[in-house]
Amino acid sequence: MGRKLLLEHAHVAGIHTYEVYRKKGGYRSVEKALKSMTPDEVVEEVKKSGLRGRGGAGFPTGMKWSFLAKPEGVPRYLLCNADESEPGTFKDRYLMEKIPHLLIEGMITSSFALGANTSYIYIRGEYAWIVRILEKAIAEAYAAGWLGKNILGTGYDLDLYVNPGAGAYICGEETALIESLEGKRGNPRIKPPFPAVKGLWQCPTVVNNVETITAVVPIVNDGGDEYAKIGIGRSTGTKLISACGNINKPGVYEIDLGLPVEEFIYSDEWCGGIKNGKRLKALVAGGSSVPILPHTLINKTAKGEARLMTYESLADGGFESGSMLGSGGFIVYDEDQCIVRNTWNFTRFYHHESCGQCSPCREGTGWMEKVLWRLENGQGKMSDIDLLADVAKKIEGNTICPLGDAAAWPVNSAIRHFREEFEWHVKEPKLCMERNYGLVSEVGVFLEGVRE
Ligand code: SF4
Repeated sequence: MGRKLLLEHAHVAGIHTYEVYRKKGGYRSVEKALKSMTPDEVVEEVKKSGLRGRGGAGFPTGMKWSFLAKPEGVPRYLLCNADESEPGTFKDRYLMEKIPHLLIEGMITSSFALGANTSYIYIRGEYAWIVRILEKAIAEAYAAGWLGKNILGTGYDLDLYVNPGAGAYICGEETALIESLEGKRGNPRIKPPFPAVKGLWQCPTVVNNVETITAVVPIVNDGGDEYAKIGIGRSTGTKLISACGNINKPGVYEIDLGLPVEEFIYSDEWCGGIKNGKRLKALVAGGSSVPILPHTLINKTAKGEARLMTYESLADGGFESGSMLGSGGFIVYDEDQCIVRNTWNFTRFYHHESCGQCSPCREGTGWMEKVLWRLENGQGKMSDIDLLADVAKKIEGNTICPLGDAAAWPVNSAIRHFREEFEWHVKEPKLCMERNYGLVSEVGVFLEGVRE
């Protein structure tokens, strides 16, 4: 079985309550940090651990923390990004729902390290029932003296609030999250200045993902060096993966970074193989915004090396033949899945979620959705495929925030790896429509020589 740093007690009855969480050793990292470490020593342990942001970008957490400006007399803030809305990603939901005190413990220890006395958990509005779980757990933590004034008699004060969003994916972008928390429309800001200098209410701010903040707990408990022993190279520690699609065992798994992708898909310990004995066709390894990988590049890189669940290995080959670990939203497609239809579905999402500030994203996502819809519905032309690739290319790198890239990458990678299937939609509009009505499901014809 894989090692469990975050989910060790996830199945213990009552672990969502303070009493049971504390009995299982909860809040030790707060005791250790506040009573025997300085804030800089906590930052140093996080740096040693090699922890990288688990929300998708993979930026080194310790380095991000060390960028935080510390002007005299100006408050600093820690914001937890719990606005988990990426299609295919549901790991933070699981963590918060099952073990809310782990996040609260991570927030206290991390806030102490950053010198923040007020912190917020900005949570996706649709997770309304988790808001209630977190609020109850926070009330328990206040009652037990882990939050509020003079925590553990150390003189450190912290207030922690939960702030539900209103259901906009873009508020998962850190500056849009800050705007929304300030009560404004969630439009991403132009950077610089970065939040570390001017964030919430123009004060120095760190925004970290839920999983990143909870990982600080075992790092402080066991030391950064211990954490760094897990994994491979610059991909250290464990990672939560939310696995879904055409697999036998969808769910949230905690893996050691470095696990071979093939083992993760086929082992009974993890995804348990492809459902109904079908063949593997494609993989979206890190949430809907990362490039799709065809079956030929899932288990091995273009260089013939085993593809591993690490930031580096999944990106091996760049945009030509690689992808990204991203948020850990692992979506597996079997041979019956239609790439055009799935790409259209993602694009429809990005078009709907674009905040509309920049033209390439606002207009381009709509055009891509329209073109993909007509291809999928037997009304496309061959020239539409190049048009689609051209629009995606013009969005990429030309927008204020990464949503533009997130919308472009699934489209241009799908065309790069599955062009034949796009062409088939133009050549066989009748078959295409029959398939849409559930009359045929033979898109597996594009899978010559696939692993049985
Ligand atoms: Fe808004 Fe899209 Fe521009 Fe991001 S890329 S700022 S979501 S229009």
